[in-house]
Amino acid sequence: MIRQSWPKTQPRRSRRGRAGFSPKVRAGVAERSKGLCELDACGPAGHIHHRAPRGRGGSQLEWINRAANALHVSARCHDRIERNRADAVANGWLILRNGQATAVETAVLYRGRWAHLTDYGLVVPTGDGAA
Ligand SMILES: [Zn+2]
Repeated sequence: MIRQSWPKTQPRRSRRGRAGFSPKVRAGVAERSKGLCELDACGPAGHIHHRAPRGRGGSQLEWINRAANALHVSARCHDRIERNRADAVANGWLILRNGQATAVETAVLYRGRWAHLTDYGLVVPTGDGAA
């Protein structure tokens, strides 16, 4: 087993109220999930996870606090994302911002099926061959 170390905490600088998802986005995400964990439907969702983290200037990017970048997850699955970051990246639950794809563009394994999330609260299955 190779232990990888990840930065545990990042300095939290508040950026003029852009601290995270707006109440409207949060409500939209809750409507999308129907309160059920969006990773794997394991149980009630209580956390809204940022697929691409806000740190390192992320809060300056418009799409960071939009619905496609949010996943409504259980506490257990939130923990799982943080602990298994390589898996989370492979599954689209975590997006590393290297100046590449946005959340809308990044497919996500959504309750066992590949899908794209939109900023309008939709889950669009990628489907076989439907691209
Ligand atoms: Zn779950």
